[in-house]
Amino acid sequence: MTDILPVSTAIDPVRRIVTAVPGPKSQALHLRRLAVVAGGVSSALPVYVERAHGAIVVDVDGNQFIDLGSGIGVMTVGHTDEAVVAAATAQLGELTHAMFTITPYEGYVRVAELLAEHTPGDFAKKTVLLNSGAEAVENAVKIARKHTGRAGVAVLEHAYHGRTNLTMAMTFKAMPYKAGFGPFAGSIHTAPGSYPFHDGLSGADAAARTISYLEKSVGAGDLACLVVEPIQGEGGFVVPAEGYLPALQEWCTANGIVFIADEIQSGMARTGRYFASEHFGVVPDVVLSAKGIAGGLPIAGVTGRAEIMDSSHPGGLGGTFAGNPVAAAAAVAVFGEIERRSLLAEAARIESVLKPELLSLQSRYDVIGDVRGIGAMLAIELVRSGGTEPNPAAVTAVTAYAAQHGVLLLNAGTWGNVIRFLPSLAISDEQLHDAISVLEDAFRTL
Ligand SMILES: *Cc1c(COP(=O)(O)O)cnc(C)c1O
Repeated sequence: MTDILPVSTAIDPVRRIVTAVPGPKSQALHLRRLAVVAGGVSSALPVYVERAHGAIVVDVDGNQFIDLGSGIGVMTVGHTDEAVVAAATAQLGELTHAMFTITPYEGYVRVAELLAEHTPGDFAKKTVLLNSGAEAVENAVKIARKHTGRAGVAVLEHAYHGRTNLTMAMTFKAMPYKAGFGPFAGSIHTAPGSYPFHDGLSGADAAARTISYLEKSVGAGDLACLVVEPIQGEGGFVVPAEGYLPALQEWCTANGIVFIADEIQSGMARTGRYFASEHFGVVPDVVLSAKGIAGGLPIAGVTGRAEIMDSSHPGGLGGTFAGNPVAAAAAVAVFGEIERRSLLAEAARIESVLKPELLSLQSRYDVIGDVRGIGAMLAIELVRSGGTEPNPAAVTAVTAYAAQHGVLLLNAGTWGNVIRFLPSLAISDEQLHDAISVLEDAFRTL
């Protein structure tokens, strides 16, 4: 039993490419996959992974990659974190499933206590646990509608909230997320947001534009909630201008609109605070967490003011696997790791190493139009020389070069012209510098 735990920890913490990328074993697996996996499920890089530890991913051909994507910000504590593996393994042998809405168990309650403690706001909070980010968004909307008796849901341009029917409607980008998949849920209103690199607006001006749009086209009195990502994820790690989010929150509070922060990508220590809202001086009524919360196991939370969260009648919220004991045990271990390993400070360390390197690259390569982000949630936006016109081809070239040389990079952005960096907080300075050297080579060969 203990034999299975240390296996992946034996991985050498270095980048090492030993075959073509993808290698022969990956290529063989890819052929099998093409025959049986639905074509709508694509993969950014057809490299089949076998093991991982910390910030290193090993593929079936023995190639080792420095992982700057963490499975889209999920492996915040690091791949196969020993505490998470041990907690989940032990829980698996004790109680795998019970269904909290039939017979409850402690792990669910403990995760709710930890979320109440670590989400912003000094008031009584309650939580419902779900399986995925999209399901958390769905439940937050259900709760806000029940609480307010209103139907309208406001979201922002460039938002990403998921792939279910309701959350597709809340997500901005048609391709690939929505095209041909309608009809979509109604009463969703997409307002202009704050994207300083493109709109040049101050936070106050951008907020005035958002608010005016919603007041004119919907009316504040018909809105149940405004759902915002404090730093937009898929949309391109867009950091709103200073003062934007506080102005939105103030308007929501004045109009009885539930202010919901979708922190599914930005939360759980990624930005050097438990939740990114804290950087912007906002205290959301409801906070959503998922991706980084359980070291790779599927669990999500909707945490909010007790009086809002209690607005549903008993039995109105739940789900078969929601708040599963194994995933809950992993989430409890992740909270423990954030404290034990001072991971908030690690996120700040990563920013202090990576951001100057990215700014230095920007000073030498004018295809890098913007460097932005906070903590271990950083991005570069690639443009046609010197301007703001999107350059997705450069992103494709740079990420392909990096993959060939053992660095996993993710793109993002409405125009596909952003490279986002969201490494595990376990990544070392050496690994970061090594990855940057590959990035430098990629820009030189552009
Ligand atoms: C990933 C993501 C979601 C959807 O989460 P899933 O677990 O993929 O359903 C929602 N909102 C944000 C901000 C996300 O990054």
